Amino acid sequence: MSSRWLDTPLAYLKGIGPLRAEALAGDLGLRTFGDLLAHYPYRYIDRSVVLRIRELQPGPAEVQVRGLLTGVQTVGSGPKRRLTARLVDGPDELELVWFKGLRWVEKGLPVGEEVVVFGRVNAFKNGLNIAHPEVERAASRPAAAAGLTPMYSSTERLGSMQLHSRGLAAKIDALLEDPARDRSDWMPESLRETQKWPRREVAVHSMHHPESPQALAAARNRLAFEELFLDQLLFAYQRLQQGRGRAGHRFASVGTHLTKFYEEILPFPLTEAQKRVVREIRRDMGSGGAMNRLVQGDVGSGKTLVAFMAMLLAVDNGFQAALMAPTEILAQQHARSLEIWAEPLGLRVALLTGSVKGSARKQLLADLADGSLHLLVGTHALIEDPVVFHNLGLAVVDEQHRFGVAQRARLLAKNRPAPHMLVMTATPIPRTLAMSLYGDLEQSVIDELPPGRKPIQTLHRTDANRLALWSFLKKEIALGRQVYMVYPLIEESEKLDYKDLMDGYESVCRDFPQPEYQVSIVHGRMRPEDKEWEMGRFARGETHIMVATTVIEVGVNVPNASVMVIENAERFGLSQLHQLRGRVGRGAEQSYCVLMTSSKLSDDAVTRIETMVRTNDGFEIADVDLQLRGPGDLMGTRQSGVMEYKLANLVHDGPLVEWARRAAARIVDEDSQLEQPEHAALRARFSDYARGRMVWGRIA
Ligand code: ADP
Ligand code: MG
Repeated sequence: MSSRWLDTPLAYLKGIGPLRAEALAGDLGLRTFGDLLAHYPYRYIDRSVVLRIRELQPGPAEVQVRGLLTGVQTVGSGPKRRLTARLVDGPDELELVWFKGLRWVEKGLPVGEEVVVFGRVNAFKNGLNIAHPEVERAASRPAAAAGLTPMYSSTERLGSMQLHSRGLAAKIDALLEDPARDRSDWMPESLRETQKWPRREVAVHSMHHPESPQALAAARNRLAFEELFLDQLLFAYQRLQQGRGRAGHRFASVGTHLTKFYEEILPFPLTEAQKRVVREIRRDMGSGGAMNRLVQGDVGSGKTLVAFMAMLLAVDNGFQAALMAPTEILAQQHARSLEIWAEPLGLRVALLTGSVKGSARKQLLADLADGSLHLLVGTHALIEDPVVFHNLGLAVVDEQHRFGVAQRARLLAKNRPAPHMLVMTATPIPRTLAMSLYGDLEQSVIDELPPGRKPIQTLHRTDANRLALWSFLKKEIALGRQVYMVYPLIEESEKLDYKDLMDGYESVCRDFPQPEYQVSIVHGRMRPEDKEWEMGRFARGETHIMVATTVIEVGVNVPNASVMVIENAERFGLSQLHQLRGRVGRGAEQSYCVLMTSSKLSDDAVTRIETMVRTNDGFEIADVDLQLRGPGDLMGTRQSGVMEYKLANLVHDGPLVEWARRAAARIVDEDSQLEQPEHAALRARFSDYARGRMVWGRIA
């Protein structure tokens, strides 16, 4: 129900006209009354607080300070020319400085008068200053300057058209007072009531003119919730369509293979978390609808095993199952673990990658098509056209973040009705992010590691400790353990990184001489066969040290490796560091992760390193990562439309996201057609929203 008033072009607002309307659209993307109303302040100034100079502290917040304005002068020349003035309060002084528009500023300064200046305080030489402050005569300050004053972002061009923050405020106020203004509210009353949130009109008003911090918080929460809720409602419908609402294979029976595996072959008990997730999967696959589930779990939490049990469930019900992994190495490793479990059950597992060629490939595809092959593991070679299944009942995607939605869809298209889908993440992502990024999937979490693992000890060292590190590594090797040494490889500086890696390799070879020590090297420039061969040597324990780039990041499983040395660790992201660390600690021995950095680190790098040293908990690390990088960056790719919220913030609004998801699911459950009178306005708003998103999705 797009209200005509909200959609009115801004050119029709008094005092705007076509020229300014065009500038508003160009600079701020504001086109309609509704857009301008939703141009919320980026901050509020408490104009009732005026500080004395001696109370000032340098900092990012804008403050008001009172004093006598004196000593205005122009100093310097050329590009260093600037205007300075002093604000004086008894013995205390503050410097004011302007670099631009000097003549114009100087003309307007009420020299010799009491003023209130407004700006950001910097530490400067031995004192404090404010650059480009706003200056107002103390006497002429309106009494109404008390309370929270909204500050709006603007641009220089708009400023020159009198649409600076104050000018925008006036236009917004005109909208807020327009007798014809929009007063509708599409949020169902019962939803609004549970949180005691204001009506929409009141909330929008409060955003611009909050009566109190509490009123502002309620308004912001309500409006942020709206954004999240519409998203989650869309997801809820997607889940309904792809899942419960779509016919899927009903895997009703737990058959012989799963039972035999669980009772006779599985060498250890499942963790409670694994049991819970297996139950969730069984429920989905037995429901008659299609499963679309995301399993999140920390490195080493045993996701592969959970996936394998789901695959057995498919086989027990007469279907095939497939597992897709992002790299050849990882696919091979999965194939190997699955074979070990599947062979005693008499089930056939095959591996399909780009390097399976010729007659072997032909045979494999034939066996797959006639159903004599039960389980297929592979890279994205799996989703290519010539790969035809006899009857694919379950598709598992490992390391989801490396695959796009399109690839998931192609896997689903391999069977009709589409197979159940199980998606696994490599490392945890924060729950709220998962709910937005993978909102169309049901979510499972394996939040427990198998028992008996010794927590990995993580140490931070610099080059000054190199000798001690070397002798530590030699001691570990003497105990029969193996060592990884990883170098960053970042595309922009690939050449330099490569040089680092080779220099590192040479010095390791020098300091760990043959024949006593055997050193492997693996990097992205090697041919796949050579990589494979070197990895194989290390995995079989024939070499002691593996020097590598991040090609070993995912999957590799060498339980005897007990030390992970990460060189230039400051250049890795948190989730990558955590992934790499997860390569050790897979056996019974105490394992170590050594983060080597230079001695000069940025603040963010310090936080990353400290976080790694402090905790092994992938979920905690993911949270810190989200705080440092923000949601857009975290997943490496920007997902179309996702997370472009005006007010909602996935870092801070976790509870709102969860609540939006629950509320959306409940509404779809109770009134899937939105037919109840209470949902009429919502239905109209949502159909607008969904249409916009779908069109966007097709363009993006
Ligand atoms: P990830 O979740 O990182 O993919 P994996 O599935 O590779 O973890 O499991 C890591 C290791 O833990 C494997 O060697 C696996 O066999 C083992 N494992 C899995 N579940 C259990 C369990 N319940 N008890 C003991 N070991 C387990
Ligand atoms: Mg895994």
